[in-house]
Amino acid sequence: MYFASDNSGPVHPQVMAKMAEANQGYQMAYGADSMMNEVRDRIRSIFEAPGAAVYLVATGTAANSLALATLSKPWETVFCSPVAHIHEDECNAPEFYSGAKLTLVPGTDKMDPEALRASILGEETRGVHGPQRGPVSITQVTERGSVYTLEELQALCAVAKDYDLPVHLDGARFTNALVTLNCSPAEMTWKAGVDAVSFGGTKNGLMGVEAVVFFDESKAWEFELRRKRGAHLFSKHRYLSAQMAAYLQDDLWLKLARQANENSARLADGLRAKGASFLHEPQANMIFASFPRAKHRQLHEAGAVYHFWGAELEGADEDESLACRLVCDWSIGSDQIDQFLALL
Ligand SMILES: *Cc1c(COP(=O)(O)O)cnc(C)c1O
Repeated sequence: MYFASDNSGPVHPQVMAKMAEANQGYQMAYGADSMMNEVRDRIRSIFEAPGAAVYLVATGTAANSLALATLSKPWETVFCSPVAHIHEDECNAPEFYSGAKLTLVPGTDKMDPEALRASILGEETRGVHGPQRGPVSITQVTERGSVYTLEELQALCAVAKDYDLPVHLDGARFTNALVTLNCSPAEMTWKAGVDAVSFGGTKNGLMGVEAVVFFDESKAWEFELRRKRGAHLFSKHRYLSAQMAAYLQDDLWLKLARQANENSARLADGLRAKGASFLHEPQANMIFASFPRAKHRQLHEAGAVYHFWGAELEGADEDESLACRLVCDWSIGSDQIDQFLALL
């Protein structure tokens, strides 16, 4: 019963098989491998963006940091939610790679367009002395498991465009959001006004690959230089390409995200039926739920693994409600979910 995160699970067997297939003979290094050509074409076609620049890196932190560095200048500020991964969970790598700072748009989860506008208006007011306005970074699925609707994405991008600011989408869980919205990748990105996307793979069955996609090809060379200078250009790149090739073959990326979201819905329905409350309405594959300490204790004793959320198991009051985060990946079986619910 492993619900700690969607990066705790295994690599999908088809991805391992593709890596074994790629492990034959010789290939040019540094992204000049033949599989990367297929991957680039496939991503351009999936995003309906024939001119897009497409790159692979091994971590989401590298994807976000290098993308934001390419979209900003060291004297600019990046607008994001206070709970954004780039703020809370990347050890200042976005600031390190870009030289820019972050401006936190007040809120608790999804960014609100008017709050974004107020934050943008609050910067660039001190001439040469203050930060200049830079990119807006939106996370989809959010760090709290919420999914922006297309209208919400369009509204945020419209505010950014009012000030001529580029928009970055942190899509560590891009496909989980896509299958929730049942829309096209183009609708969730450039058609809404997104300029660059971190297209996640690791949390959805890969070993360690995220794509960075720029819809403006003129960013390509700068990104390549930044990736190399930032020590994220892999020499045996074919093994990154192979993972992404397997991911995109026969819609595996969509199948895995659908499975993860279905697993999460099964768990959320069960939690609801058992009287648990939710801190955020679950919309993809992450659940923030609250239920009594006594239940958490039983689950832990039976071997369930997950993170508490601003709470801890130790404590005397057995009836006290403790919040936790439960994440489902594609590989969690319904038997494990049902076992968890039965214990609850
Ligand atoms: C997991 C995650 C990332 C990427 O994290 P890495 O550990 O660097 O791969 C980025 N953004 C969000 C929202 C995430 O959940």
